[in-house]
Amino acid sequence: MKKYYISTFGCQMNVHDSEKMAGILKSEGYTETDSAKNANIVIFNTCSIRQKAEQKFFSELGRIKSLKQKRPDLKIAVTGCIAQQEGARLLQRASHVDYVIGPQNINALKSVVAVNQNAGIIAVEDNPYIADMELPADRKDGVRAWVNIMYGCNNFCSYCIVPYTRGREKSRASQNIINEIKELSEKGYKEVTLLGQNVNSYKSNINFPELLKEINKINKIKRIRFVTSHPKDLSDDLIYAIRDLDKVCEHIHLPLQSGSSKILALMNRRYTYEDYQKKIEKLRLEIPEIAITSDIIAGFPQETDEDHKETIRALAEIEFDGIYAFKFSPRQGTKASTMNEQISDDIKSERLAKILELQNEITERKNRELKGTQEEVLVEGHDDKNTGKFKGRTRTNKIVNITLKNNIKLTDNIKSGDFVIVKIIGPLRHSLEGEIVYISHEDSCLNPWM
Ligand code: SF4
Repeated sequence: MKKYYISTFGCQMNVHDSEKMAGILKSEGYTETDSAKNANIVIFNTCSIRQKAEQKFFSELGRIKSLKQKRPDLKIAVTGCIAQQEGARLLQRASHVDYVIGPQNINALKSVVAVNQNAGIIAVEDNPYIADMELPADRKDGVRAWVNIMYGCNNFCSYCIVPYTRGREKSRASQNIINEIKELSEKGYKEVTLLGQNVNSYKSNINFPELLKEINKINKIKRIRFVTSHPKDLSDDLIYAIRDLDKVCEHIHLPLQSGSSKILALMNRRYTYEDYQKKIEKLRLEIPEIAITSDIIAGFPQETDEDHKETIRALAEIEFDGIYAFKFSPRQGTKASTMNEQISDDIKSERLAKILELQNEITERKNRELKGTQEEVLVEGHDDKNTGKFKGRTRTNKIVNITLKNNIKLTDNIKSGDFVIVKIIGPLRHSLEGEIVYISHEDSCLNPWM
């Protein structure tokens, strides 16, 4: 039987694209292997959002060359954003690559493997039909599922490569999304995360808050999440949907990027810091328990010390539950990469360290405030360190490592997909320790609001 090995870089969108590629390969009779050495086809599903991810891919690609030399029948495919960006150049740069398939052309993998095509296949065209293609996904997690609701992005933030690699926005038909989620619910999935570069601008026969309302009606789905939201498109209707729909979790990831309105304009984000603050105020007014996370870029071109201080001030004012912060990484082909007054790497590192130092304090304090509270957690499996503990997430998307309490009998075995009520006993920096108070093996959630 033929085997595949997929190495995935980057965001949730790529993780889910890899699930679709696995689905295509399985439908063609392939099985998965956990080592490239045993594979008939190796796929590198790449990310070009930052230089680091790009370098990591190229060094993995270099390492696999000797395997290809030993086994010339091994097929090597490069997919994802670097494939889209580089196209034919990739074949010139790395002659051991057989196929280059962009993220809009994942379906090409099917015909490529079906006939075991020879080397030199390049599929990087714009694909206006991507939202209409229903590709099978082979998901590993049996509790939480990623579901694409749209593809591409129209925003052209000046630092971002995504609109060039994933094309313009295309929304999937609402009925196809709903059918997919109904199928997932029948398979036992409890939680779905709706995926798009900017889910707030989802538009088919219905808009995004209306789509949430429809998904909320699906019986066996108990939690609904979504990423990512662009602040300029966060409508009052969406805020009310989070507030009113019982299955929509109280968490939003809302990338701020900078606390300086001058830098936000250079980033082409199309909101000011004050606009952003107003959205946060409204979110917290309507949904007081909401957790808010964000993205921050340190050292964007022309960022002065004063601009950086404005970001620090913003973090202190808003008090996010958590952030992903990165140094600005110039991406070839984007406007920001050619802007004058690029910031030196030393200054970027210094600013990033200050951002992280402050945010870590805030996150730790927020986690400490949860000590003694009871939270509903959806169990996802054993914790990453294999200590015998279980792990799961709160509705606010905080990771909880769960310990059993003495009065919970072993016959009460917890399993993935159970809802448990835990008492928070040990707030950590990036996660929480919780002790079980109550387990529900029923196909129902324990949320007192439901
Ligand atoms: S919204 Fe901006 S940062 Fe996000 S994918 Fe689109 S262009 Fe990139």
